Amino acid sequence: MEDNYRHKGMRRQLVEELRSKGIQDEAVLSAINQLPRHFFLEKAFVEWAYQDKAFPIGKEQTISQPYTVAYQTALLKIKKRESVLEIGTGSGYQAAILALLGARVYTLERQELLYSRSTQLLKALGLGGVRTYLRDGYKGLPELAPYDKILVTAGAPEIPQNLCKQLKIGGVLVVPVGEKVQRMYKITRLSDTDFEHQQLDNFKFVPFLKGINKA
Ligand code: SAH
Repeated sequence: MEDNYRHKGMRRQLVEELRSKGIQDEAVLSAINQLPRHFFLEKAFVEWAYQDKAFPIGKEQTISQPYTVAYQTALLKIKKRESVLEIGTGSGYQAAILALLGARVYTLERQELLYSRSTQLLKALGLGGVRTYLRDGYKGLPELAPYDKILVTAGAPEIPQNLCKQLKIGGVLVVPVGEKVQRMYKITRLSDTDFEHQQLDNFKFVPFLKGINKA
């Protein structure tokens, strides 16, 4: 895996593009500037890696658009050593960004092929802060709950209640909610029983599906 001056140059341009689209969080922009996104796509698609676009990664899934990754990550306001549960590992790119920000990342994927590819890649990159699981994200990862932050990277038809229950008090869940188009929700747990809901911009995600898929 090579990361040369051309890749670095394209990455700097991508960061400027995200800035011009309104992303202001410097820690997030710096993580995007550091992480070679082309490692997360197949070799033939390097030229696409630094466009602000989603891209197919197999099994009808996509690596999220960099703008979306930046937007969701900025909402989480990650502090070092926080525990973050991610639903939808996909390529592993978003998990790697969270790890670069110093989080302890637990990421769940339902597609076995994507799970095994991303597990290998994250290991090869030496990102020790990420643990991957072949699991149905609807159930979350109760054995390691509660989490400081939870991030869903697939479009949920409704607010996933199991995940709300796995948040610490003061913890934040970022989840796109809706059928065809999703509204970004930022949900903060105020107490055992109270949650504050904030509704933000619209996005388009691949669907949050039930069960795991071994293939
Ligand atoms: N965060 C990813 C984006 C992947 S797209 C990245 O950076 O590349 C969303 C992913 O969510 C897909 O890989 C899809 O297989 C996965 N997914 C959908 N429903 C899921 C579920 N119930 N549990 C775990 N993963 C799920």
